[in-house]
Amino acid sequence: MKKIAVLTSGGDAPGMNAAIRAVVRTAVFKGMEVYGVRRGFHGLIKGEIEHMDVKSVGEILHRGGTILNTARSDQFKTEEGMGKALNILRVFGIEGLVVIGGDGSFRGALDLSERGFPTVGVPGTIDNDIACTEQTIGFDTAINTVLEAINKIRDTVSSHERTNIIEVMGRDAGDIAIYTGMAGGAEGILIPEMPLNIDNLCRRIIEGRNRGKSSSIIILAEGAGKAMELERIIEEKTGMETRATVLGYIQRGGSPSAADIILASRMGYHAVELLENNIGNRIVAIRENRIVDFDIKEALSMPKKFNQELYDLAQVLSI
Ligand code: ATP
Repeated sequence: MKKIAVLTSGGDAPGMNAAIRAVVRTAVFKGMEVYGVRRGFHGLIKGEIEHMDVKSVGEILHRGGTILNTARSDQFKTEEGMGKALNILRVFGIEGLVVIGGDGSFRGALDLSERGFPTVGVPGTIDNDIACTEQTIGFDTAINTVLEAINKIRDTVSSHERTNIIEVMGRDAGDIAIYTGMAGGAEGILIPEMPLNIDNLCRRIIEGRNRGKSSSIIILAEGAGKAMELERIIEEKTGMETRATVLGYIQRGGSPSAADIILASRMGYHAVELLENNIGNRIVAIRENRIVDFDIKEALSMPKKFNQELYDLAQVLSI
């Protein structure tokens, strides 16, 4: 392959720029021409495509978000939209596409691959909800951002001797909650993978208080419930002053961590290597610190497991 393109799609994640840089510079290094598609599949349909070179990805490594912008496109999911996208790729003479995004974006990549257009997915999402890879680009930065927030909230929570519920992102996955709950020493972690037992949680809070704990932090994954509702229930059942904090989009921003930049660079490089060898319909992943790849359809049907060991350990250590 001599001409490839790259786009970012779905929710943005810190480290996406490092992945774009790796794709562009690897392609240039290998003597390929490379194009950037703006605004994900939405921009692809509209032909928002520009030529990229070594310079166009200069000084972006430390920047959060994505320089190519991202968008969601319902039109792309239709036959008509798909036809338009394939036509644009043909018009520009592009032979392969790297899609940096989450599982929705990979379904789009699969649709293109099934119509004969080689596409490679690179997992970029803070949620860490792609089953085939142990880590997604953006997750490490996001959990460090959340940890910083937990530590700040902890100061005020312990001064006021309160319980604070902190709602974190993650969609249907509890990974952000488990990792930050563990690192932040949370007294409770509520995730969609485990049934919510409010009475059990309240008993733990009361027992903690009876042992002399003056405050508690509960990390709630967005897929497991709403912080405001829980605030009311916990205050009612424990009789202790309770507050809720929804961290929101702060979790998606900021400079990527070293770990995310390195992961993104390795994955971006591998994606181009695949296309160089005319291999499409793959998702790049990391397993036991090795960069590997999987068939898109197979990868999307793998069940997502959560880190039960870390979850259990956090419970033991937070008594
Ligand atoms: P994140 O997990 O960070 O939100 P995502 O990639 O899962 O990222 P989505 O909004 O689900 O985000 O998907 C991004 C885009 O991918 C959609 O706007 C749409 O254009 C395309 N897409 C999603 N699902 C499909 C599908 N089933 N078939 C074809 N294209 C799809």
